[in-house]
Amino acid sequence: MAPIVAPPVIVLSGPSGTGKSTLLKRLFAQHPESFGFSVSHTTRSPRAGETDGVEYHFTTPEGFEELINKDAFIEHATFAGRSYGTSFAAVRDVTSKGRACILDIEMEGVKQVKKSDLNAKFIFVKPPSVEELEKRLRGRGTESEDAVQKRLDQAIKELEFAEQPGIHDKVIVNDNFERAYVELDQYIMSLLE
Ligand code: ADP
Ligand code: 5GP
Repeated sequence: MAPIVAPPVIVLSGPSGTGKSTLLKRLFAQHPESFGFSVSHTTRSPRAGETDGVEYHFTTPEGFEELINKDAFIEHATFAGRSYGTSFAAVRDVTSKGRACILDIEMEGVKQVKKSDLNAKFIFVKPPSVEELEKRLRGRGTESEDAVQKRLDQAIKELEFAEQPGIHDKVIVNDNFERAYVELDQYIMSLLE
């Protein structure tokens, strides 16, 4: 009898504004049947075009606290003053359909997933420079000045963390989008073989 192989769990991280969501959007559009996104909970407000239950489960600080108390999260962290977390249910919803599950999470979450039972692969998406990152973050037009500063401060920490050997299985520099996408696609598809 063929062994039962659990669908892979793939963790994408990298500074805010580096292009993770844009890369993932392309990946999901090109392989609609292969992947599912782990929909996190967050206490930040939805951006224009974001839908509850699609990009995030948008929740109140009280609702988030309740989920922590119920041990609903595999990992959770505070980022730029807001709470974010991956629930066990979010990952199960995807893997139960036999699809590879993709998480888009920050550094503290990466550390916690590494300590969890999830046998995940870790991809770091790096900006070509901090100057370019700032340009993209501002160009996206979704953050207040205060939020941009918080995200840039955090970006330095994320980049330092990623310098440590053995943290990530794959590092992709998102300079030219098409090139970075091909590299991501090839690496992720190799995990599904
Ligand atoms: P993240 O999800 O990592 O926070 P986004 O995917 O929202 O980042 O991308 C931030 C901004 O940078 C968006 O406006 C996006 O269109 C742009 N962007 C993404 N990749 C590139 C790239 N390779 N070159 C220039 N701009 C990019
Ligand atoms: P944004 O507010 O731009 O959507 O996300 C901000 C940061 O939070 C990004 O680095 C993103 O990867 C991270 N993030 C999103 N969901 C989660 C989560 O469930 N857990 C953790 N630890 N980080 C998350």
